[in-house]
Amino acid sequence: MKIGVLALQGAFAEHISVLHRLEVETLPVRLPHQLVGLDGLIIPGGESTTITSLMLSYNLRADISRMVENGLPVLGTCAGMILLARKVSNDGIEPVAVMGITVRRNAFGRQRESFETDLAIPVLGEKPFPGVFIRAPLIEQVTDKVEVLARLDNGTIVAARQGKLLACAFHPELTDDLRFHQYFLSIVSGEQ
Ligand code: GLN
Repeated sequence: MKIGVLALQGAFAEHISVLHRLEVETLPVRLPHQLVGLDGLIIPGGESTTITSLMLSYNLRADISRMVENGLPVLGTCAGMILLARKVSNDGIEPVAVMGITVRRNAFGRQRESFETDLAIPVLGEKPFPGVFIRAPLIEQVTDKVEVLARLDNGTIVAARQGKLLACAFHPELTDDLRFHQYFLSIVSGEQ
């Protein structure tokens, strides 16, 4: 199994180190030819405006969108989730738009710009998952093809899945809990 991590900007090194801990072959992706032969792709957190414009400059956007249509599994975390969304409600940003979610950027006010909270994520088992939120987006709406995986206590959706696409508003790569990545790898391998 070979997993690419989009390495244009943001927290790509942290995802690569989680994948190394899980002993998965990993490739940082900066150019379109590096997408060839991947079994899955991770789009990290960072600044979605920057990642979007670099994706366009490096001609990655169309290829990623085509590969997703052909079944490439993708995990998008935080800014990566924004890039997967069909619509961003509060910004002119143009995401890759492959997943039936509407997201709001920087959705938590100044007081809660960054915070940590335990999340119930039933697909990962009973033990709560440490949710690290950094200027995070939230999911405002989902289509009926989307499965909601996690919510905050107030009902806000913070993780979702649509087929082989997995998105979360938080940063699993910044914790020692490997279960979210393991769940993605089980989607890639077809176990889930
Ligand atoms: N605030 C960033 C954005 O809107 C996302 C933050 C993150 O990825 N940690 O793009």
